[in-house]
Parts: sequence; C-alpha cells; structure tokens
Amino acid sequence: MRGLKGKNVLVTGASSGIGKAIAVRFAAEGAHVAVNYHKGEEEAANTIAEMHTASAAAGIAPGSLKDMTIQANVAKAEEVSAMFEQAIATFGGLDILVNNAGMQIQGASHEIPLDQFDQMIDINMKGAYLCARQAITHFLAHGGGVIVNDSSVHELIPRPQYVGYTMSKGGLRAMTRTLALEYARDNIRINSFAPGATLTPINPWKDDPQRKADIESHIPMGRSGTPEEMAAVAAFLASDDAAYITGQTLFIDGGLTLFPSFRTPWTG
Ligand code: NAD
Repeated sequence: MRGLKGKNVLVTGASSGIGKAIAVRFAAEGAHVAVNYHKGEEEAANTIAEMHTASAAAGIAPGSLKDMTIQANVAKAEEVSAMFEQAIATFGGLDILVNNAGMQIQGASHEIPLDQFDQMIDINMKGAYLCARQAITHFLAHGGGVIVNDSSVHELIPRPQYVGYTMSKGGLRAMTRTLALEYARDNIRINSFAPGATLTPINPWKDDPQRKADIESHIPMGRSGTPEEMAAVAAFLASDDAAYITGQTLFIDGGLTLFPSFRTPWTG
C-alpha cells in the first residue's frame, strides 16, 4: 500500500490477535513498528519475530527496519505518556497510531460488577483516547499523522450481556468522528475499522466447534474473519491510498451488520 514504507507506527495490544497481525502487516509494508503489550513479554517478542519473517518474505533487507516492544497499560495516563516518549525518542518520530488494545467481559447488564464495567471503559475507550491525545499532540507539532482505531460491529449493533463493551465501542465511534472533524485541517486523519467475529484469543468459542458453528450460522458469509483480514484494512486506512478518508468506520464482518439486530441474538 502507498505511503507506509519507512513510517513509524505504534500498535497497542500487539502481543496477540488482531494487534499482532497488524504489527506483522505493517512490517511487511516496510514500516518501523513499536509493539505495545500489557502482559506477556514473551508474546510481544514473538510478534517481533513474526514481523522479521514477514518483512524478509517481502524482500526487505534484514535489520533495515527498526522495532521495539513497549510495556504499558493503555488505561493509565502516565504509562501511555511514557510509552509515547519511548517510541518517539527511539524512532525519532511517530506517523501512525493504531488503537487496538481491548477486552470484553460478559454478564447480565444489571449485575456486572462495577469494577469490571470500569475496566472495559478504561481500556477500550479511555485508553484509546489517552493514546490519541498523545499522538495528536505529536502530529500537530510535526505536520500530521494518522490514527486507526480497532472498534467493533458492536459500535453499531447491540449485544446483550456486553453493555460495557458496546458502550465503549460506541464511545470509540463518537471519538473517531469528533477528532476527525476537529483535526481535519491539520493533516491528521482518524478512522476506525470494525471487526465482526474474528478468530482471536478474545473469543474462547473459536476452539469449541459447536459454539463456533452456531455463531457462524448468524454471519451472512458463513464464517468468522481472520486477524490478517482485519490487518489488511488497518493498513489500508493508515496508507496514502486512504488519503481522502476521515471520520469513518469500515466494517469487516462478512455481512454481519446487514442483519437486523433480532437475527443476531448470540451473546458469544
Ligand atoms: P486479543 O485478546 O488477542 O487482543 C487484545 C489485546 O489487547 C491483547 O494483546 C491484550 O493484552 C491487550 N490489552 C488488554 N488490555 C490492555 C491494556 N490495559 N493495555 C495494553 N494492552 C491491553 O483479542 P483481539 O480480538 O485481537 O482484540 C483486539 C481488538 O479487536 C479489541 O479492541 C477488540 O475489542 C477488537 N475486536 C475483536 C473482535 C473479535 O471478534 N476478535 C471483534 C470486534 C472487535
């Protein structure tokens, strides 16, 4: 994709799942990637190893791309601030932020413990905002940049028993649109991609054939998505091929959002 070669990218929550696939994809596109992780230093190192394999397969000379792992909890302002300082100091700047870190907790909406509710909002929504404000501050001083947020089909469609999750992703949609409008004249683009059911550790049902088949029966294309399919769209939105797109959410869901909500009763 155009314009990713040589760019400095920070991907949050990149030690597993979609974030890992995004980091690998950016490395294959010739970008320098900082891999944020919260827990799991070894998994983050695995992401770096896969980035090396992918960039070599893309014909990029070994050692020519910079990379690093950075431990930080995106829900903590001081840790986010230190993470940006480290990434910017090591790379000499930052061009692209991918807000990917997220989690979900299931429970009856009137009963979910408030500390768990807070955690979902703090990581999925406030964490993305904390990172966005650091990135925008840097972008304003350096001629611009791009933010790509990992939202969810549940920024749009309801999901019983996941009220904190749907609220956090709905908030992410509002943040994307507000920031995109506010900084449109500053050469800063902000978009989201919204995965449908994707085969990652956040979905334990992926290893249960019966539950997986049930969930996939509600997806028009009849299958889940892969982390790589999500990464391709994240890379597109960050690239110059998407130069005239801002404030949008691109759904990557095998048609899931084409269903009326009463046809998606699963709580997964
Ligand atoms: P995942 O569990 O593999 O990835 C989530 C990542 O976020 C993990 O690496 C985790 O360590 C990290 N993380 C969690 N809390 C963090 C914190 N406080 N600070 C830093 N990192 C933290 O699952 P995934 O599916 O790859 O999830 C990635 C994103 O995709 C999430 O935002 C999720 O909401 C979104 N998403 C996933 C699906 C799906 O079906 N898999 C669907 C829609 C949206």
